[in-house]
Amino acid sequence: MQPPEATSPEPTSPDPRPQTADDDVPPAPPFSLGVASGWPSADSVVLWTRLMGLPADHDEPVHWQVASTPTFDHPLAQGQALAPARLAHSVHVQVQGLPSKRWLYYRFSYAGRNSPVGRTRTLPAQGQPAQPLRLVWASCQRWDLGYFDAWRHVVADAPDLIVFVGDAIYEYPRAREPVRSGVPAGASGWARTLDDYRARYALYRSDPGLRAAHAAAPWVSMWDDHEVQNDYAGLHPGNGAGVDDFAARRAAAYQAYFEHMPLPPQLFAPDAQSGAPPAELRLYAAFSLGALGRLITLDTRQYRDAQACTPRGASGGGLVDVADCPSWNDPQRRLLGPVQAQWLRQQLQSGSAQAAASQGWTLLAQPTLLGQREFRHSQAPLRRNDGWDGYPAARARLLAALQGVPDVLVLGGDVHEFWVGRIPSQPEQPQSASLGVEFCAASIAAHGGGNAKRAHQLARNPHFIFADGASNGYGLIDLSAEQALVRLRVIDDARLARTRIATLATFRVQRGHPEPERLD
Ligand code: FE
Ligand code: CA
Repeated sequence: MQPPEATSPEPTSPDPRPQTADDDVPPAPPFSLGVASGWPSADSVVLWTRLMGLPADHDEPVHWQVASTPTFDHPLAQGQALAPARLAHSVHVQVQGLPSKRWLYYRFSYAGRNSPVGRTRTLPAQGQPAQPLRLVWASCQRWDLGYFDAWRHVVADAPDLIVFVGDAIYEYPRAREPVRSGVPAGASGWARTLDDYRARYALYRSDPGLRAAHAAAPWVSMWDDHEVQNDYAGLHPGNGAGVDDFAARRAAAYQAYFEHMPLPPQLFAPDAQSGAPPAELRLYAAFSLGALGRLITLDTRQYRDAQACTPRGASGGGLVDVADCPSWNDPQRRLLGPVQAQWLRQQLQSGSAQAAASQGWTLLAQPTLLGQREFRHSQAPLRRNDGWDGYPAARARLLAALQGVPDVLVLGGDVHEFWVGRIPSQPEQPQSASLGVEFCAASIAAHGGGNAKRAHQLARNPHFIFADGASNGYGLIDLSAEQALVRLRVIDDARLARTRIATLATFRVQRGHPEPERLD
């Protein structure tokens, strides 16, 4: 952690619009992967970069600066950080003592060369009047299935905060008919080793839209499965191209994830005794949004038990005939794991310090779909076992913890489709009292299930009021003290490097009224 050398309050300038890093040419080495910021609070933010092309056996010092203007005339904070060789020369600096709710600029320098300038923003502080906050949430980007041009539109939408809910990379080999060609040799096969995962993140950051989004606003990032392997569960492998030692593969993938995300350095601090990498990468967290409420992120992948009754005894997920699966409702089966679940209950408990401090919205960002999705029209249930549907006892515990928590918005991804609905307190009874509203975003670049069976699916799952499986895009939320305005933003065609953006549908949720209302 780097304490700032000096902080001096400066007058608040009007919010500058983002500098769209609209150049397709990657930054010069060693900063060719760009810069990022994340994990913000009212007075701190994490700055990230990774130096490319350095000798593999040298830790290198890097200088960093934070200022309120992009010209860095009067830095608010600056210091030196280390780019350790063991972490692929990634840099994670947690800058503290910053003014709240302010646009800030940052850059790194190394050996006389400056990085691109990034823009970030601190969150509102407790006690400040609630002012509107704009945030984007998104998930699922597969490089060889599309361009990440949606991110360029995210930058133009100028969010205060970007929440990513998983599948930042895909571990798959290059698609048989890739949208993009020119995948380098080190990133075209299955990702299984630390070098493979590093090469995969480097490939993804070669996308100018993704780089621009990382540089335009702070990120809060959560992973799902593809950062390691499709449908893995805790320490149980998923499916596709296995390895002898899944725990080692997962550890390598987690390390590469840390190396490429703006996460606090202490999240990957080596074990004090052995010096080994941490056994856990604790990504779940709570972020105060001041008087507006809070954002809680949940990790539904790292601590879960294996999926139940996957067809043909395979590992990973699938569609399951619930009547033929005796362990389906086993209360012992966990999705969050006991420690995270207990932490979440404490966060949500009315009367707890956390709840008292948060009179506003509770945004619950998690990787997948919370609401029940029945896939069959007849009575015998057919459900997907990899999401919340496959862990009904864990979902019931989450819903019980949400009882009495006002103004809950659940944000998700994973299914590559937009879904919008109420959150019935009893999933089998769609009309039971609503605990909040769920919004699931489609993918930045991945394939959804299409819309052929859409009307059918909505009729069978009436707690959902909207679904779309044919678009790529993200969700945009304008959050105020009175309401949440949610726009589903879609691009024309992820197969094109340059696309147009449109709003597919707009919804409103009013404070004190946990039902989604479609505006247009
Ligand atoms: Fe995905
Ligand atoms: Ca999956």
